[in-house]
Amino acid sequence: MSRAIELFARMHEVRSVTADERGRQTLTGDVILAVFGKVQHKMPLGMDLLMAKYVHDAPAANRIIDVMAIWLNDEPLKRKDLAMALSCVALDVFCDKPVASQKRQLAALWRKCSDQAKRSNRLIKGWQAKIKRLQRNIDACETHAAEERLLSAINDLEALIIKDRRRIDEYAQSQSLKSLTCPRCSGTGLILNTGECPSCNGHGLFIPSVDNIRQHLRHIGLGRVSDKLWENELKPWFEKCLSKLYVKSSDATKMLSNFLYNESDLDNGLCFI
Ligand SMILES: [Zn+2]
Repeated sequence: MSRAIELFARMHEVRSVTADERGRQTLTGDVILAVFGKVQHKMPLGMDLLMAKYVHDAPAANRIIDVMAIWLNDEPLKRKDLAMALSCVALDVFCDKPVASQKRQLAALWRKCSDQAKRSNRLIKGWQAKIKRLQRNIDACETHAAEERLLSAINDLEALIIKDRRRIDEYAQSQSLKSLTCPRCSGTGLILNTGECPSCNGHGLFIPSVDNIRQHLRHIGLGRVSDKLWENELKPWFEKCLSKLYVKSSDATKMLSNFLYNESDLDNGLCFI
C-alpha cells in the first residue's frame, strides 16, 4: 500500500485523531483534507474508486456504477444489460470483494479453519461428551425427579451446542463477505509441514478467475450466456471495464501522492509513492 493510500485510509477512520501517529508529522489534517478535496475535484471517479476500495464508501460505489453505465453508451454491445451486471462484478473484483461462488467456499473454510471455529469445536466436543455421560447416568436413576433433572441438564447442553453452531455460522458468513484472504493459511499460501495450501492452491487469496465471473452471472439469476456472446462481447467488456477501474484509481493515487509530496516539507524527505 502506498504511503498516500495509507494516509487516505487513516484519515477516513472514525477513530483516527491525527493522520499519522508515528511521530514526525509535517502535514496537518486540514492540509491533507484540502489535498483530498483537490484530487476529488480533478479526478472524481479515481477518488471514488479509492473511497469504495479502501474505506468501503457505499455512495462512492453508487457514483461509480452511474459512471460505468455511461461508459456503456458508447459501446456497440448487444446485451448491455448483461454488460452492466458485469460492470458491477468488475467493481467488486476491483474492491477485492469475493464473488458469490467464492463466498460459499470462503464461508465453509471460515466455519472449519478459523480460530473461532476451532475453539467452538473444542467446546462442542466437551459438551457432547458431557451429554453422553449424563445419558449413561439416566439408566441408573432411581427416582423420576432425578431423571428429570438429568434430562433438563442434557437439554440445556444441546441448546448451547445449537447456539454456538449458529454463532460460528454467522461469523463465517460475515467474514466471507469481507475479504478474499484464505482463512486456512491466513493468506500465506502455505501450511506448516505440508507445503502448499490445498484450499487456495497456494495463492493465499481467492481471486476470481474469468470462469468464476461467468458462473457468477448464472448465480445472480441472469442465466447461461452462449460461448459466442461471452467470448465476443462480455468477456472483453469485463476485462476492459476492470482495467479502466485500475487505471483511473492508479491515476488518482499518483495525483494524491504528488500533491501530498508538494505540500509536505521537501527537505524532510517524506515520500508518498
Ligand atoms: Zn490457503
